[in-house]
Order: sequence, then structure tokens, then C-alpha cells
Amino acid sequence: MSSKVSRYPGTEVTHDDIEANSYLMTHYQAELKYAWTSGVATGRYLKGLKEGEIWGRRCDGCGRVMVPPRMYCELCFRPTDGWVKLRDTGRVVTYSIAYVNFDASRRQDPIIVAVVEVDGASPMMGILHLLGEVDPEDVKIGMRVQAVWKKVEDRSGAITDIVHFRPLGGR
Ligand SMILES: [Zn+2]
Repeated sequence: MSSKVSRYPGTEVTHDDIEANSYLMTHYQAELKYAWTSGVATGRYLKGLKEGEIWGRRCDGCGRVMVPPRMYCELCFRPTDGWVKLRDTGRVVTYSIAYVNFDASRRQDPIIVAVVEVDGASPMMGILHLLGEVDPEDVKIGMRVQAVWKKVEDRSGAITDIVHFRPLGGR
């Protein structure tokens, strides 16, 4: 018996065991089920998206309108004060042209990821989303954009209820 492992009971698989293929491995599929609440602010925000609306939250302490909304102002250290319906237009404050997928595989056609400062919210308050219906070379900081919504029946109360933002006025 080995006395090397004293803290954790069990049998160590050694390099020799692996070389000799003398160990047992089992595979199983865990059925894990989770449920959680989105919270008051995000819940209202997601409900709004399902209705084709973008809602922010106002703080009377600092005068900011925040989106995505939150129930507490991190600048004033106090609860926020009310809901503000924003427009579904805005401007691009920063963007990135990505030729790599989320799994690090290469893309032939790039996706354009942008932060859109939403009209009616305070400066630099915005949504991280995709730009569409635009050539990557034509994207500019400050560009005016508008949300393209999924059809009502296809919306689920998620940020993906907005397909992407496109240049305002189309092309
Ligand atoms: Zn505040």
C-alpha cells in the first residue's frame, strides 16, 4: 500500500497504470436542472424586450438613466427611482470586427460586435450587440443605428429578441 496519499482516500492512478491501460473509466450524462430568478430590474428589462421595448432605470441622485437597468445606483449608493422607456435607436460607441467564432474556429464572413449607446439613456450607457445590414468597412464610431426586432411570435424575452442593430434609415 502506498502511503503517499494521506489526505484524500482512494487509489491513485499512476503513470504506469495509464501506460498499461489498467484503469476504469466511465461516462455518464448528468441531468442537471437549474432555475433562477432574473431579478426585478433584469426581469422588467427582458419583459420589455419581448414587447419590442428597451427600458432603463433612472437615478434621481445622479440624474443618470441606466441601461441595462439596475435597482441600485453604484455611484449614489441608493436605490434607483423609476423606469424610463428608451428608444430603440442609438449610436455605436465602440465595435469589433470578429473573424473568430465563440469556439475559436475561423469565420469566412465576420460578425460585427458593437456597444450601442441607447437614445434616452445617459452617455456611455448601452447594449453590447451585433451590427447587421452593413459592410464592415462602413462601420464608424458614432454611427446612428436602430434595433431590428424578431417577429413578435418569435420573441422570448431575451436580448436576442433584437436580431441586430442596423444603420439608421437602412441602406
Ligand atoms: Zn445615482
